[in-house]
Amino acid sequence: MTATRVLVLNSGSSSVKYQLLEMTDESRLAVGLVERIGENQSRLTHVCLRRGSPVASEGERRERVEEFADHEAALRAAAEELAADGLGLDSPGLAAIGHRVVHGGQWFTRPTLVDDDVLAEIRRLVPVAPLHNPANLTGITTAQTLSPGLPQVAVFDTTFHTTMPEHAARYAIDVGTADEHRVRRYGFHGTSHAYVSRRTAELLGKDPSEVNVIVLHLGNGASVSAVEGGRCVDTSMGLTPLEGLVMGTRSGDLDPAVVFHLVRVAGMTVDEVDELLNKRSGLVGLCGDNDMREIRRRIEEGDERAQLAFDIYIHRIKKYIGAYYAVLGRVDAVAFTAGVGENSPPVREAALAGLEGLGLAVDPAANEAEGPAADGARLISSRDARVAAAVVPTDEELEIARQTYALVTGREPRQTG
Ligand code: AMP
Repeated sequence: MTATRVLVLNSGSSSVKYQLLEMTDESRLAVGLVERIGENQSRLTHVCLRRGSPVASEGERRERVEEFADHEAALRAAAEELAADGLGLDSPGLAAIGHRVVHGGQWFTRPTLVDDDVLAEIRRLVPVAPLHNPANLTGITTAQTLSPGLPQVAVFDTTFHTTMPEHAARYAIDVGTADEHRVRRYGFHGTSHAYVSRRTAELLGKDPSEVNVIVLHLGNGASVSAVEGGRCVDTSMGLTPLEGLVMGTRSGDLDPAVVFHLVRVAGMTVDEVDELLNKRSGLVGLCGDNDMREIRRRIEEGDERAQLAFDIYIHRIKKYIGAYYAVLGRVDAVAFTAGVGENSPPVREAALAGLEGLGLAVDPAANEAEGPAADGARLISSRDARVAAAVVPTDEELEIARQTYALVTGREPRQTG
């Protein structure tokens, strides 16, 4: 049996998401989530999407609520569910496991087969990604224990941004200090920016190398990137995912002196400021809600705090569109993706309002409509707009699976389609 399946693992601090894909037709065979790992009421939700054995039926959803004490217990349970569907980790059809790794620093410029050196390097990056890399590491080492001999591939959120030129990647601070402590702009959500920029080129009927795209990944975390001919030349997140756009709970850009001020004048500790800027800022800090649906509902009822939060959020997006327009010189498309970008017509409309001078204009009916393509990707610009506007649902798992499969089979990743 040829090995044509890839298991994608996204290990967070207290959760593991997984998807099993068949790469010959890029279909999902199973998807699942283990939440609240380490608590006594952990929950595993598993959906078998295609029959892998006579045992499981298509679309079957199973749930287990029990204690999964650690990632190993969680992954073991996920492996049991897959095995029950005839899709176990020891199945000869499984080619590799692809792991999402948030921080790959400057040197991981492509997906990488995991060995001891790679693990050590991911571990060395923990100080710059303390929330994410430890969980990603645990996911990899647990998968190694459960499926020895199977190729494990690390796919980094930072890789797509490693093409940024030095003038975009460096902060204007003392070079010696920056280099000693690896302080530079890395960018995140790279798998999403890579996927969406390529899919946007396809929507335009062009090769990615021919188009310049501004990708707006607007989820609970949010980032924007400037993609020139398929290569990232700038992105809004920096050393950590705190820089850039206004997010669900993160402030995005601010004067760094705000931190000194809060420490010196407000008497806050550095950890308290860290928590404030990452967890109690952004939309939630401004109006108490971080769900765009709720914010829009409040605006409809005349809530001024919600309106101001929305206006600040949109203003920041506009500033980045302008900045990246200037960075790229010529823009072919602006693409919206992730939870807010894919689902909020008012955000898309407001973000592009008044940008006719830049060639951008939204068609109101297209902005409200569902997409014709199976994956929901569609154009929402008006006919006479010089620059296309698009909604492109992101698919980070598919992108990770493609890159993983390409690495282990020695083939180029296939394009979206
Ligand atoms: P993500 O991080 O990509 O999963 O995005 C999550 C965010 O998407 C939520 O916090 C909401 O603000 C937003 N979202 C999800 N569904 C909708 C919707 N139908 N309309 C507006 N915003 C939405």
